[in-house]
Amino acid sequence: EMHDGGWRRVVLKLSGEAFAGGEQLGIDAGVVQYVAEAIAQAVGEGMQVAVVVGGGNMMRGAELSASGVERGRADYMGMLGTVINCLALQDFLERQGVETRVQTAIHMSQVAEAYIPRRAVRHLEKGRVVIFGAGLGAPFFSTDTTAAQRALEIGAQAVLKGTQVDGVYDSDPHRNASAVKFDRLEYNEVLTRGLKVMDATAVSLCMDNGLPIVVFDLMGAGNIVRAVRGEKIGTIVCP
Ligand code: UDP
Repeated sequence: EMHDGGWRRVVLKLSGEAFAGGEQLGIDAGVVQYVAEAIAQAVGEGMQVAVVVGGGNMMRGAELSASGVERGRADYMGMLGTVINCLALQDFLERQGVETRVQTAIHMSQVAEAYIPRRAVRHLEKGRVVIFGAGLGAPFFSTDTTAAQRALEIGAQAVLKGTQVDGVYDSDPHRNASAVKFDRLEYNEVLTRGLKVMDATAVSLCMDNGLPIVVFDLMGAGNIVRAVRGEKIGTIVCP
């Protein structure tokens, strides 16, 4: 079953936590390999895939600032952490034979292109995977919000958020055995019930622009390709 219209271009949001996998610190090569193989398959099928990479496995600004680091600086540290994950994903994708470009919101020309939206679109049209790093380049935002903003700016049809759970529930399924999963949600419901989809800034941005969000279990077999294809999976938040 496909969502209406079928998608041609999507933004896949990968959390830093996913990159850590079973590791305490840094990057779990097995996870990155798994994700890279799935992206390679989706691109092989003709889908245009851009990726926004988080950095929670490296540094979280809000947590660091709680221990005294000035919030803006802590957030910049967080943004820099995302770039390490980007380069890891780039490496694993290129070993799969997929052409990639990393574009960062903070300039670092030795390792990545600058974020240039129209150039990103050109890369995607040529079958390259574009990996967006350093968030929006501004403190007080998240990489979830970045995923929504980048999707809007490059004309993607959906944001796909790969997580540790297989969708959005009315309560924590790890703690409550009777938690109920939603197949479909409206943006307002996510916001008023405080459901864990993305932060409120990200959800609002998607709501204001009618951009669908798909929440799915990243590591479930075949899930990434299914999500990118627009098959029914996890929970969809849409107009
Ligand atoms: N960050 C930021 N602005 C952005 C994106 C990210 O300041 O536009 C910082 C923020 O400190 C955040 C960190 O980068 O905690 C890592 O990103 P995020 O927490 O979104 O990563 P994830 O939870 O997806 O692993």
